[in-house]
Amino acid sequence: MPYNTRMDLNKKLTPEQYKVTQQCGTEAPFSGKYYDHSEVGDYICVCCDQVLFSSKTKFDSGTGWPSFSDIKKIESVKLIDENSYGYIRVEVRCKKCDAHLGHVFDDGPTNTGKRYCINSASLDFIES
Ligand SMILES: [Zn+2]
Repeated sequence: MPYNTRMDLNKKLTPEQYKVTQQCGTEAPFSGKYYDHSEVGDYICVCCDQVLFSSKTKFDSGTGWPSFSDIKKIESVKLIDENSYGYIRVEVRCKKCDAHLGHVFDDGPTNTGKRYCINSASLDFIES
């Protein structure tokens, strides 16, 4: 997959996007372009363009990161248990290109019970 070489990504991504997706970084809260974004459409992986989230499941969690109650297609991501900072978190990665997206928590406000807390830097947006 030629788009997925580190060198190509270096050219395609901003330094912030590279740090978040390739080095498991976290953008500062309230700094990203999508936490306060309510257009209708799909959020895609900034690295490989795979569709990840729909604006229909986006909600304002007050955390300063884009938050979703569900994945558009659950098979498009992989979830990894991460034991760090003394507690267990579940990391969310793009299944296609392995980009780090964010984390998922079990305190979501809708019937899914999930809160996908995702970095704006991991996402791009397609209006529909
Ligand atoms: Zn991807």
